[in-house]
Amino acid sequence: MDRVFVGVPASPGIVAGPVHLLRWEVPDVRHRIISDDAILGEIERLHDAFTRAKERLRQVRARAEQHAGPEEAAIFDAQLLMLDDSSLIEEVESNIRQNYAAEKAFDLVMLEHRQVFARHAQPRMRERAADLTDIHIRVLSVLLGLPDHDPVDVPKGAHAILVTHDLTPSLTVQLDRDAIVGIATDAGTQTSHVAILARSLGLPAVLGLRDATSQMDGTERVVLDGAAGKLSINPTESELKEYRRRARREAEAQAELRQFATVEPVTKDGTRITLFANVDLPEEAEAAAQSGAEGVGLMRTEFLVIGRATMPDEDEQYRAYARVVDAFGGRPVIIRTFDVGGDKMPASGYPAEANPFLGWRAIRMCLDEPKMFKAQLRALMRAAVHGDVRIMLPLIVTLDEVRQARTLLAEATEELAARKANFRANLPLGVMIETPAAAVMADSFGRDVSFFSIGTNDLVQYTLAVDRGNANLTSRFTPLHPAVLRLIKRISEAAAVAGQDLSVCGEMASQPLMAFALIGLGLRGLSVAPRAVALVKRVVRSVTVEAAAQAANEALEAPTAAIAEQGLRKRFISALGDDPFLRGGLPGLA
Ligand code: PEP
Ligand code: MG
Repeated sequence: MDRVFVGVPASPGIVAGPVHLLRWEVPDVRHRIISDDAILGEIERLHDAFTRAKERLRQVRARAEQHAGPEEAAIFDAQLLMLDDSSLIEEVESNIRQNYAAEKAFDLVMLEHRQVFARHAQPRMRERAADLTDIHIRVLSVLLGLPDHDPVDVPKGAHAILVTHDLTPSLTVQLDRDAIVGIATDAGTQTSHVAILARSLGLPAVLGLRDATSQMDGTERVVLDGAAGKLSINPTESELKEYRRRARREAEAQAELRQFATVEPVTKDGTRITLFANVDLPEEAEAAAQSGAEGVGLMRTEFLVIGRATMPDEDEQYRAYARVVDAFGGRPVIIRTFDVGGDKMPASGYPAEANPFLGWRAIRMCLDEPKMFKAQLRALMRAAVHGDVRIMLPLIVTLDEVRQARTLLAEATEELAARKANFRANLPLGVMIETPAAAVMADSFGRDVSFFSIGTNDLVQYTLAVDRGNANLTSRFTPLHPAVLRLIKRISEAAAVAGQDLSVCGEMASQPLMAFALIGLGLRGLSVAPRAVALVKRVVRSVTVEAAAQAANEALEAPTAAIAEQGLRKRFISALGDDPFLRGGLPGLA
């Protein structure tokens, strides 16, 4: 084996295959001066490059239309139009006439345009900067004779591992599962949305490899071990054998765990815990319904939007929500309104911001765009005819947001009634507690909300001021920090006093040690990734609430995250008794 890169274990599974190295970055361009005689030839080369780039874009557009639909494909129209812009071509030609080689002439013009667009006062113009970057890369790749890469352009049956610097959720949803069997990136963390999506899609992934792509050339074969967070380059035959053995063992462990899907999650001292599943894409619903979950604790509806040029209309949304509700029969399904923004962006039509995680996202955007928001609320009320739908609002900071959302919900109800539509009104309305403000003020939400769900991914990010997607900060993203635990405890007490339902739907709930801590903090509802349902059930059945509470109380008083974690781990191991599966099978616990 040449070497092993170690990153963040983002989505479990062991896969081996050739590398598909995607470098979607603007290449370096050497300064090259041409003679007067060469000018016409260079202009011709420029036109050829534009023609080839356009051909390629049309292919990409057609493929996007086939895989994802016309809305997704429309994002490429803007780029095609830019390549037809005669003033752009004239500017580059003018540089060539001043003896710049075509690639340098083009590079200079694009750098200037991108800067102007990126700093433009109008958000609509700033959005175009990303399209310009795409064109910049595409045309330069042709002019410099670089390999033609396209993220989703991998032949079917290649079973390749996609290795790239960073990946967006919108690209991740478009990946052809027959072509790409695993993802490895330099950037990203456990709680970045690419990781969350990869887990939903069952795509093994290792993120946060920092500089792996700069040390690879794309000719490698690799083994990706998602649970261990490792990417092994050019393994030998005997190493491959070992990996296959590990993959078999992992599959056996999964099969053993599956027996727990149908058991009741009751602790050893008789406390019933409710286990829900998180659903990110409607296509996942049927499998999630078989996971042993008692309902959906979080459906992330924004994945219907990201990567698309336009919002899905009411009917399209209704079909998506109804599919999930139908899959879960009469079980409760909590559907969250669009949490767009942060690292979940539509392909276009969204303003570029300096601090997207502190920006115009989630409920803020929905309240400012009532037409769009009400279409979603109407779709949810129509889907509620199929079962038990509950509506959840993301990123709540103040009670005013809940009240404004209620006003829009009332308007949406009237609109449906006026249309004589088939719908159900008065659905339970709950909120995500994922900002420190909401956590501290949870006791003041009173009758305005029917339930709370703690979004620990954002709560940790905002409490510790640590970007959840930044690979350089992974060791600082510590959900067991006593500050976070104290906030969770506070929310749990507020919900108990008000008699409101409370669950946790962030990634913490899927991690055995953290699930133990959450039970200790008073949580009785956990919503986890579908493949973690059986595992968390097994954890629940192996511990007592008494031991968990004792451990959590100690952690609340710990001076640091590391000390809190150490103490919890010790108590967890002793609480597990001698369950050999859990003791041997949990990362870091054996
Ligand atoms: C969270 O923030 O914990 C959460 C569940 O929502 P998301 O991960 O989609 O931000
Ligand atoms: Mg969140």
